[in-house]
Amino acid sequence: MESPADIRAADTSEAAVGEGDRGGAAGRRIVQVLFPLPLPEAFDYAEPEGMGLAVGDMVAAPLGPRTLRGVVTGFSDAGRGGRALKAVSARLDDPPLPANTLAFVLWAARYAVDASGQPLAIALRGLNAPRPRPERRLVAQGPAPPRLTASRRRVLAAAAQPIARADLARAAGVSDGVIRALLEQGALAAVAAPAEAPFAAPDPARPGAILDPSQAAAATALSAMAAARGFGVALLDGVTGSGKTEVYLEAAAAALGARADAQVLVLLPEIALTEAVIDRFAARFGAAPAQWHSGVSPPRRRETWEAVATGRARIVVGARSALFLPFTALALIVVDEEHDGSYKQEDGFIYQARDLAVARGKIEGCAVILASATPSLETLWNAKAGRYRWVRLNDRHGAASMPAIELIDLRAHPPEAGQWLAPPLVTAMAETLARGEQTLLFLNRRGYAPVVLCRACGERLKAPDSDSWLVEHRYTGRLVCHLTGFSMAKPERCPQCGAKDSLVSIGPGVERVEEEARLKFPDARLAVFSSDTVTDAAAARAMIEAMARGEFDIMVATQGAAKGHNFPLLTLVGVVDGDLGLKGGDLRAAERTYQLLTQVSGRAGRRERPGRALIQTWAADHPVMRAIAAGDRDGFLAVELEERRAVGLPPFGRLAAVILSGPDAGALDAFAQAVAAAAPAAQGVSVFGPADAPLGLVRGLRRKRLLARAERSVDLRAYLVAWRARVKPPNRIRMVIDVDPYSFL
Ligand code: ADP
Repeated sequence: MESPADIRAADTSEAAVGEGDRGGAAGRRIVQVLFPLPLPEAFDYAEPEGMGLAVGDMVAAPLGPRTLRGVVTGFSDAGRGGRALKAVSARLDDPPLPANTLAFVLWAARYAVDASGQPLAIALRGLNAPRPRPERRLVAQGPAPPRLTASRRRVLAAAAQPIARADLARAAGVSDGVIRALLEQGALAAVAAPAEAPFAAPDPARPGAILDPSQAAAATALSAMAAARGFGVALLDGVTGSGKTEVYLEAAAAALGARADAQVLVLLPEIALTEAVIDRFAARFGAAPAQWHSGVSPPRRRETWEAVATGRARIVVGARSALFLPFTALALIVVDEEHDGSYKQEDGFIYQARDLAVARGKIEGCAVILASATPSLETLWNAKAGRYRWVRLNDRHGAASMPAIELIDLRAHPPEAGQWLAPPLVTAMAETLARGEQTLLFLNRRGYAPVVLCRACGERLKAPDSDSWLVEHRYTGRLVCHLTGFSMAKPERCPQCGAKDSLVSIGPGVERVEEEARLKFPDARLAVFSSDTVTDAAAARAMIEAMARGEFDIMVATQGAAKGHNFPLLTLVGVVDGDLGLKGGDLRAAERTYQLLTQVSGRAGRRERPGRALIQTWAADHPVMRAIAAGDRDGFLAVELEERRAVGLPPFGRLAAVILSGPDAGALDAFAQAVAAAAPAAQGVSVFGPADAPLGLVRGLRRKRLLARAERSVDLRAYLVAWRARVKPPNRIRMVIDVDPYSFL
């Protein structure tokens, strides 16, 4: 977790106010201050005379040896039996945290059975950076100086237009000294760079797309919900390419048009998707929305935080943590691709952003739209039960039709030895290429090979401090642990038995599939889209745009390319290993496989050209595979819901995991047994475990987990609180509660 920056003396000009105050709080108010730290509750401070604090105010207050930023969460009048209280040091000049944001933070902590300071840290993250400084650029000016060396001439040429100092040195290939000399001589001048885009007001009255009748009906329903003040949730359920984005743009327009101060938040699961959605909002409303994700620079984040808190930023498009921004008049939250697993935050403060979006909507009294072509089981369940309004788009927009999905049964059509593309897929690729159309080969595995094995002794190479296999990456020649990032050069000898040249690569990753495609189609233009080749949002955008312009014939991609993009020339999708998701063995394995394969298949044939999706599988008889091939979502759902009902799993029951980790196996075992023994007996709750977590060793820490399953009528939160109160983790053992776990790692 990021720790909040210490408040420096310069920020606390009133720091002296409280000094003589200790113990003298009688008659004054006591202020509760919550810090963005993993602390269970707010601390009491004396309010210095005249400070006039209010709930939500940002203050600096002493905590141990440091002075830290905190938020006022309440007051009490009663003196605490003469107990000496330290005083608040200063009120900070940041905008206060709006009451609803604070209420949401406190609610989120209760829901996650975690310390309130944890979600507060996320809510205040934008304040950890300094405000952006006005940037300066250099530009050539006046007559050329007398001693015009070749390097000086290059500098002046490169500075014909204003340019940042570091960029100038790079462009001219000179040291900074040359630039300094020219500045001193007056041949270069410093000018202010244009500031980053302001938060321009969107214009909801600009005309949108002309909607087809089913889109118009959906837009009318959702717009009414977004314009009315009040809580409501809708599932926008439409196949890929049916125009869900167009429809929620109209709902956003209605929300913005209904109130001059209304704000709209759009959550997306991937940064790679943000750029395209930002462009569509910018085109629709004539002003670019604010962005909030890890690719935004810290100073810009601070600016954005303040713009949201003061109501200047009206539309925010961002990742899950944008849900914690200090909105003042939130009117609509859209959760796009609501089924996506990356809405679940797995470390630090553990939460499911889609579920919290509904909670925030309730607190704000605003509309929430959950959009997906493959809604999560939980959401569909709520829609079926009538708790969510269910808005459907059944057809693709315009002439586009849904792709034909076919299974390739690998038992009948195996690939050649050491290869991964089955003959029917290769034939389809050749035909697609001949028509000048594009193929997307999907494989949700980075690198070259997922496992490296020693032929001599059978050893599978693992990271030294984790239980996960090392993945071979040929582009970099390294073996990488995808869990911890550990990497090493591929050794010549087996680290176990010392045999030389005995290491073989087992199974395919995207790099290996690209190699095979290159051999089979030497003239095709190929690209690999994975987090190794696409390291940031700009690179993702560049590759996606190149694909959309038809600059590649074959793209080999992991799941980043499975979502949301429109590729007009893409008519064939080949899923290399359709069974991959089914092997996870966790409760959502079937659902995830269904969603991912449907999403990937949906990439094909988004425009006038009909598309085809071929899924390679060893399990063509599996119900998930059969349902996908038949396009039978309702059939899949019925089977899956029935299975979950039978065993009391979500949405029919609730789950929570208790995860224990520590360096010492013996101590961890003993504590895990103690935790199991301490589980309160309660009707309707079963506790399982302790078991080794499937990845029992990560970064040198051993991991054990227990699972509590409760009937829906049980207050699982209260149960967990009571349970946790009965045990105290010994030194160096960490205990984390994961409510509604997704990952079973
Ligand atoms: P989804 O979000 O359901 O995948 P999109 O909103 O991205 O669908 O629409 C798919 C494509 O069809 C996009 O290129 C979009 O611009 C286009 N489209 C959808 N509806 C319309 C419409 N009513 N008028 C013009 N283009 C549309």
